[in-house]
Amino acid sequence: MIRKLIHRVFGARAAKPAPAAPAPEGPALIQAARHGVHRERISSGARRTVETLQQHGYKAYVVGGAVRDLLAGIPPKDYDVATDATPEQVRQCFRRARLIGRRFQIVHVLMGAETIEVATFRAPHDEDTQTDAHGRVLRDNVFGTHAEDAARRDFTANALYYDPVAETIVDFHHGVADIEQKTLRMIGDPLTRYREDPVRMLRAVRLAAKLGLTIDPEARRPIRDLAPLLENVPPARLFDEMLKLLSSGHALRCLKQLREEGLHHGVLPLLDVVLEQPLGQRFVVLALENTDQRVREGKGISPGFLFATLLWHQTLARWKKIEAAGERPIPALFQAMDEVLDAQSEKLAITRRVAGDIKDIWALQPRFEQRSGKRPYALLEHERFRAGWDFLQLRSAAGEIDREITDWWEAFLAADGDERAALLQPPRADEAKKRRRRRRKPAAGAPAAPVAD
Ligand code: ATP
Ligand code: MG
Repeated sequence: MIRKLIHRVFGARAAKPAPAAPAPEGPALIQAARHGVHRERISSGARRTVETLQQHGYKAYVVGGAVRDLLAGIPPKDYDVATDATPEQVRQCFRRARLIGRRFQIVHVLMGAETIEVATFRAPHDEDTQTDAHGRVLRDNVFGTHAEDAARRDFTANALYYDPVAETIVDFHHGVADIEQKTLRMIGDPLTRYREDPVRMLRAVRLAAKLGLTIDPEARRPIRDLAPLLENVPPARLFDEMLKLLSSGHALRCLKQLREEGLHHGVLPLLDVVLEQPLGQRFVVLALENTDQRVREGKGISPGFLFATLLWHQTLARWKKIEAAGERPIPALFQAMDEVLDAQSEKLAITRRVAGDIKDIWALQPRFEQRSGKRPYALLEHERFRAGWDFLQLRSAAGEIDREITDWWEAFLAADGDERAALLQPPRADEAKKRRRRRRKPAAGAPAAPVAD
């Protein structure tokens, strides 16, 4: 039956079969009656991009994640288009388009509020491809045929090409059937493909969790042994991938699966921290449930907040240790923050902006305990108050701090002028003493107290 629907359309072009996964019988051309994806479900920007390229005589398809997600019944996050036009030719087809990237050139086509990423078909790797000592591919920028482009993609579900004009899917590797059978299958030899790019191990886990697919045993088996290869991946790439994983709407499921695949231990310090901290377990689970919920409701999530939650318990433990060794509370917190973030940055390039957000959220925490004088008012004015407050509520829900503190802040936030003033607590004895001392003699050279704005 399915065979009847198979047409050899690109067989002739695939003159040089890809070493990773030859597709000897050519691709299947699957009609809408069978796959059920109608053009109305594609964003108008992606549709117009493909139509324009086709009108100029090029091949063009919506490709990758968007087609996969549509088949799985999930609204696509964004749209990628693959074409046989070169980046320069693509640019010339559109009024608003710009070339991006130097080594791996793609074109961003701007359609209204949408940005469509258009890439030229790429060739698979060959003997000349530059790799590192472990087989990781370093350069990947040779144009190829449609069949070659399909063969260099990672999973069969990701190698589907949808033509919104004809409403057909070009399927070189039985991706449609695999999605139907809820299987995530690697194109080619999984061992080789993971060596070329170890991030594919993380992608396997993320996509399986997101789409409710089972990783094919062949693709699953090597992961445990190859996990250490992740150490050679540039930290910026790992940060991007972890962020994708954590903001997939299935972060909790992803992390559990990472643990099952043996991808947590000694590979990424972040995962060690997140998955192996008995004390913080409840807090992390609550944080991730919260994040997943937000993503599914279409609300934004802040990477800073996310990483702040994941690394909080490590910071807390360090903080208490440094304090126990004799340091004052606030400098001890700041030292702990730096140590924890420095340890992460060896493997995971948390961007400077995100690191700044994380620190802000953490540094605000002790300030919520101060509920006298002008301090609560100053805290309200802080530009990160909202994030700090959400974080505090999470700690409270996890039973980590006294409920009384969040109750007080809730009341303070709901109150107005006089009511607010009435809620203020008398200065604590140590604070009153400090204030008197300060009045007598300004503390020259004292470290800037983070409690003061
Ligand atoms: P999502 O957008 O949901 O994160 P995606 O599969 O679309 O998932 P992208 O990073 O947007 O992920 O990649 C687009 C497409 O590029 C993929 O569907 C796949 O065909 C291909 N691709 C991405 N990363 C790799 C990789 N590491 N190896 C091989 N092909 C890849
Ligand atoms: Mg994508």
